[in-house]
Amino acid sequence: MERSDAQSPPCMHCGGNQFDTVLENVRDRVWWKPGAFQLQQCQACGLVQTRPRPHGTALDFYYEDTYDTPEARAGLQRFYEGRLGRLLNQYRLITIEKVRPVTAADHVVDVGCSYGHFLQAVRQARQVSTTGLDLDATSLAHAVDADCGTFRQSTLLDAELADESVTIITFLECLEHDPDPVATLTAARNALVPGGLVAIELPMWNSLWCRVFGRFWHPLFVPQHLVHFSRESLQEVASAAGLEPVHHQTMLFPSELTLSARALVLEWLLGPGRPPSPLLDRVLAPIWILVFWILDVPSQFLLRIAGQAGHQTLIARRPFT
Ligand SMILES: [Zn+2]
Repeated sequence: MERSDAQSPPCMHCGGNQFDTVLENVRDRVWWKPGAFQLQQCQACGLVQTRPRPHGTALDFYYEDTYDTPEARAGLQRFYEGRLGRLLNQYRLITIEKVRPVTAADHVVDVGCSYGHFLQAVRQARQVSTTGLDLDATSLAHAVDADCGTFRQSTLLDAELADESVTIITFLECLEHDPDPVATLTAARNALVPGGLVAIELPMWNSLWCRVFGRFWHPLFVPQHLVHFSRESLQEVASAAGLEPVHHQTMLFPSELTLSARALVLEWLLGPGRPPSPLLDRVLAPIWILVFWILDVPSQFLLRIAGQAGHQTLIARRPFT
């Protein structure tokens, strides 16, 4: 990546300028776009960030033809309308309800709502009113629940929701893409009624497979993921935004081990940054199917119990006073 396409701004949490490099040569292993990135940890607050950070047209390049292609849309719709996707959204709802029941009186805003499947699931299960925000026009144009909820092409910061107008705001695999998570969570706090909830689901830096696989850990998703939250740093960022953490847990994330092992093996076979041919993928597929069912799925349940699965959910509340 050219230097002019990247930024090395101060820490997005505390404004610090001193960083330690914790991972080097981290690459996009999902869409195989070019570039090698570093993950650096702020010496002052410990938050891990992708640096240098692509911005503007460089960042646009890394989103082009990713979530918005007909193939991606068909894949997401197949997943979320299938048994596993419906189960995942139920799991997310049940996680929020560990804090309090979700009812028809709730107004749920999902930030980074994609095609709206989570909002559809919550509306159908609990009759809530819904608003979906996303930057991707293609996703919103094909939103699954367009007749029943409001959808806007916007970030939360630009959405200008009225103060104290919302009861639940969700960030599902979204906040790690945000260049200013404290500002976004502050906007969420302001939009919430006192006692309203924010639910944040994203990868957990420093979880077990993250430490084992390092730069091959699948959920790193660089450079789209600008920030890599540990359990502690996520709670600190929420607190800095005036939110009170009330529940934290790791989330089952089967495929984490399989896809990380695949990334490691592919780099060993092909060298850095080279995608597999369709033939190689077909040859290796039976191995990954075995790894998934024999190692990955069982280990997720153990990791979930130990609080070490690769994804986490934090629920934080706007204080009553
Ligand atoms: Zn910092």
